[in-house]
Amino acid sequence: MQIAIDGPAGAGKSTIAKLAAERLGFIYIDTGAMYRALTYLVLQKGADPHDEEGVFRIQQAMDLQLEPGTGTTACRVLVDGVDVTEKIRHPDVGKLVSIVSRHGKVRREMVALQQKLASGRNVVMDGRDIGTTVLPKADLKIFLSASVEERARRRLAEFMQKGHGLTLDAVIAELKQRDHIDSTREVSSLCKADDAVEIDTTDLSIEQVVERVLALVVRRENGVQGP
Ligand code: C5P
Repeated sequence: MQIAIDGPAGAGKSTIAKLAAERLGFIYIDTGAMYRALTYLVLQKGADPHDEEGVFRIQQAMDLQLEPGTGTTACRVLVDGVDVTEKIRHPDVGKLVSIVSRHGKVRREMVALQQKLASGRNVVMDGRDIGTTVLPKADLKIFLSASVEERARRRLAEFMQKGHGLTLDAVIAELKQRDHIDSTREVSSLCKADDAVEIDTTDLSIEQVVERVLALVVRRENGVQGP
């Protein structure tokens, strides 16, 4: 069974995807981590994130390994043999990742890799284009949303925990900019698949969202479509 979870930054995708995968005994694949890993390498090399050919060359030469998460474990990301799981969460990567992931050539490669990772497995995969492009035949498609203020509060809490001093206004501005670039890019932009079920998580607890997702899984297992 394949479950696709899409939505804007900070809507709770990875938290929900990890917990749902744990309860179902599925693997969890974080596709954002793959674009973040490439962005990290672009930054390391001092390359221009706007230069599609340059970014693509770095991608071609990069050895990217994603070890799917199980249970509540995050996906482990290795770039050229080095564990960058934590480093790719740095705000500097977050600022540029939408520019890097906008390039069509980059996306084609990433999508092929993501499809390979998901093939033949029980998987919960989260990202921006999973229900529309990566797994268009997914058994269940969820689109998670939340107000930008709530999403920024959640992101800020994560950053504070890691010791990155940012203000709420700065996080709101960054999320808005990232959502804008992600939703308006030409190739597989962030949008809800026609057959996705939208869940607004603004006023819901994590447990409530997980319960909702699991209830939808049961419906799909019983052959019931729709929300
Ligand atoms: O999910 P996360 O916030 O870590 O994703 C970081 C960025 O990676 C997104 O803002 C988007 O630019 C890009 N991304 C994407 N397609 C995906 C997953 C992430 O373009 N499937």
